[in-house]
Amino acid sequence: MARKIVAGNWKMNLLRDEAFSLVAEITGMLNDEESRPVKIILFPSFIHLGAIHQLVASDARIAVGAQNCSDKASGAYTGEVSAAMLSSYGCKYVLVGHSERRQYYGEDNVLLAEKINSILHAGMRPLYCVGEQLEERKSGKHFDVVRSQLEEGIFHLSPSAFGKCILAYEPVWAIGTGLTASPAEAQEMHAFIRQRIAEKYGQEAAENTSILYGGSCNDQNARELFSLPDVDGGLIGGASLKSRSFVNIVKALP
Ligand code: PEP
Repeated sequence: MARKIVAGNWKMNLLRDEAFSLVAEITGMLNDEESRPVKIILFPSFIHLGAIHQLVASDARIAVGAQNCSDKASGAYTGEVSAAMLSSYGCKYVLVGHSERRQYYGEDNVLLAEKINSILHAGMRPLYCVGEQLEERKSGKHFDVVRSQLEEGIFHLSPSAFGKCILAYEPVWAIGTGLTASPAEAQEMHAFIRQRIAEKYGQEAAENTSILYGGSCNDQNARELFSLPDVDGGLIGGASLKSRSFVNIVKALP
């Protein structure tokens, strides 16, 4: 069975004290309201990562991840942060292939495959995002786009390395827009992704891979999305910046 996960992508938001307060509010609400051993991953910006890790280090429910990392191991790459550096600060996961990185920073599947290798080499787990643009869906190319993102970005991994990865389906047209994929659209693509994994790595690997949904997921729609057979939780952007909505989304996990 795939592990159920809720991940919060804070993007380039929250000053130091705001980030610390958000974590304190989330852990407080979880202590009061959630007795299950839920799995939560918080993705703060690099600069808060070490401190946030220290705040949640003793909380088995919460892990910390980075929103990006370099594909290079070390050296003269001004402004970059390596996977090994992240790991040395307690980071356990790294987002790769988020549409904002693909779109605004020109990151393609070839580069993303290198990043995934670096993350795994440093002993962390990649959370690899795939998803189509609106035009690609309208022209019926969404399955081809996602298939290529899988084949070129992550299917080069060995079965054991792939087993360390989490996937997220994030239709680009749903990210930050308030437009959510319908349950039927989400389930259809999640089932497609799981089927591609089964073809490449076998049925057991496919069933054990967590595939999260992302794209305007909030505390109003999370329960329905998380109840779909191939949706194993969510990657949450905007709604992860408010403790009440984020904890409500966590509580929507089946
Ligand atoms: C995201 O950025 O990964 C995301 C899902 O954003 P939002 O929830 O704001 O659409």
